[in-house]
Amino acid sequence: MSSPAQRIGVFVCDCGLNIAGTVDTEDVARFAKTLPGVAAVVRNRYTCADPGQNEIKKAVVEHHLDRVVVASCTPKIHEPTFRRCVQDVGLNPYLMEMANIREQCSWVHMGDRVGATRKAKDLVRSAVERALLWYASPERLRDLVLERQGTGDAYPGLIVIANHPSLLDALMLVARLPRAACVMKASLMRNPLLAPGARLARYIRNDTPSGLVRLAVDDLRAGGQLVLFPEGTRTTRQPLNPFRPGFTLIAKMARAPIQTVFIDTDSPYLGKGWPIWRLPPLPIVFRARLGRRFEPRDDHHVLVAEVQAHFMQGLRAGPMAQGPRQQE
Ligand code: SF4
Repeated sequence: MSSPAQRIGVFVCDCGLNIAGTVDTEDVARFAKTLPGVAAVVRNRYTCADPGQNEIKKAVVEHHLDRVVVASCTPKIHEPTFRRCVQDVGLNPYLMEMANIREQCSWVHMGDRVGATRKAKDLVRSAVERALLWYASPERLRDLVLERQGTGDAYPGLIVIANHPSLLDALMLVARLPRAACVMKASLMRNPLLAPGARLARYIRNDTPSGLVRLAVDDLRAGGQLVLFPEGTRTTRQPLNPFRPGFTLIAKMARAPIQTVFIDTDSPYLGKGWPIWRLPPLPIVFRARLGRRFEPRDDHHVLVAEVQAHFMQGLRAGPMAQGPRQQE
C-alpha cells in the first residue's frame, strides 16, 4: 500500500546578505525541491518580514501544505513568529520546523561558499526529515480533548479505550490527555529510573487483576480519566485482538462511561515484534477518531462483545482499513 503523502513547504531565507552573501540560497532551494514530501519551495529575501510571512501563508493555502520548514536564523528568534504565521492559515503551529542556516552556517563559514551551501542543504534535509517523522498531527487529535464543554476541566470519571497497533498510540493518547491515568507493568514501577516519573504521571500498577481493578475504580471515583487498551497487548491479529473484559468490569464498579477511540495507521513501526532499534518506513501517519461512548452495564461480559463489535466496524470503515503495510 502506498503511504499517505505529506505536503511540506520549504521557505529559504536570504536574510539580505547575512545568509545569501555566503550560502547559494537559490541552489539550496533547488535542492529542497528534490526532497521527499516537499510540495513547494519559496525563496524569500526576509522571511520574518510581512511580505515573507505572507508568502508562507499564500503557499500553505495554494499548495495545501500540511507542514512547513523555514530555513533561516536560530529558532530562538523567530520560531514563535513562524508558528503564529502558519497558525493564522489554519495549520498546526507545531508542524513548523526550522533549519538554522544563518548562525549555524553562513555566519560561521564566511569565505567558504561551497562548503556553507553544502552544509545548508544538509540542515534543510534534516529539517524536512524531522517534518516527515512527526508521528501524528496533534491537530488531527484535537477531538480527543475530553473536557467538559467550555470549562477546560477534564470530563470526570471516564474510561478511554483504544485499539493498540503500536507503542506510539499509547504515547499519543496520554500526551493528549495529560490528566489521564494509564496502567503500567508492575515490574516497570519497581524500576528506579522509571518509577518516580510513572508515579508523578499517575500510572496505575498491574500487580494483580484485583489490585488493578481496585486502584482504577478508586481513580475513576475520584474523577480521573483512565486510558486502557482492552486487547491487553499490541495488535497481532488485524484489525484487532480479542478484547479482555477488565475494562467493562471497572466501568461497572465505578459507574463510569467508556469512550472509544479508533487508532488508524498504515505503519508497522513499534508494533508487536518491531525491534526498538529498527528504523521505520517513512512517512508515519497515525490518526485517532472518537467512537461511541458506552454506559456501564451490570452484565459486563455482554458489553465487551458489543464494544468489540463497534471497534471492528469502526476500524474497517476507517481511512487505513488495510492496516500496517508489509515489510520486506
Ligand atoms: S527570518 Fe531570520 S534569517 Fe530571515 S530575515 Fe528574518 S532574521 Fe534574517
